[in-house]
Amino acid sequence: MNWSRQIHIKSPAELQIMREAGRINATVLATTKELLKPGVSTADLNAAAEEVLRKHGCVSPFKGYGHPPYPASITVSINRELVHGIPSRNRKLKAGDIVSIDCGTVLDGWVADSAFTGGVGQISPEAQALLDVTLGALHAGIEKMCVGNRTGDVSAAIQNYVESRGFQVTREYTGHGVGRQMHEGPQVPNYGKPGTGLPLKAGMTIALEPMVLVGTEETRVLPDQWTVVSADGSLTAHFEHSVAVTEGKPLILTVP
Ligand code: MG
Ligand code: MG
Repeated sequence: MNWSRQIHIKSPAELQIMREAGRINATVLATTKELLKPGVSTADLNAAAEEVLRKHGCVSPFKGYGHPPYPASITVSINRELVHGIPSRNRKLKAGDIVSIDCGTVLDGWVADSAFTGGVGQISPEAQALLDVTLGALHAGIEKMCVGNRTGDVSAAIQNYVESRGFQVTREYTGHGVGRQMHEGPQVPNYGKPGTGLPLKAGMTIALEPMVLVGTEETRVLPDQWTVVSADGSLTAHFEHSVAVTEGKPLILTVP
């Protein structure tokens, strides 16, 4: 991923718009979560997401992003697929699948970026543990997003939370600043050392996104040039929130 490393501090008024974008993004994700049922296609999930975005006069920054241009408004990544799965009419959900859905929302030129992983019907205890650890790691990272800390404190919190529970974090895909662009500085990896990296300042907005694997941390990209899978075929999960650093507690932008 090659994106601008520029860091932009947001004003309170700008944060308010990003918070509104985040609220809409949360509605999109909640709508897709309701649809996680056997037989639903991943294209159905994308269509439902686009309908919510349209209703709010918003678009997803994913559509047309990158090379080759990403063709949909959300990514849907099932089981061994870690991130960037392309929705398809032929891809139907099955009971026991775990499904990661990532969506962005652009409102008045400001971006919110968030993801969750959910189960289809009954899922295995291992899959449930993976989901719990990935969500827990996201919140362990968010807790460290305070003035006085550095990006390495956030990264280390995520890595320690995951690895101390016997799971792996990806080295290849990272959290990132978010704002006018979907990807700004700073880059926030899911691994790192406390006390290193950039100091966090009030008004920074960062999309934190632990991507967690049951087996090897190694991944590869499928021939569609987007879908990232675990190299060993093991289960993976992904949770993400866009979060603002404030003078007080971190402000999660992508909640209802
Ligand atoms: Mg995302
Ligand atoms: Mg992101």
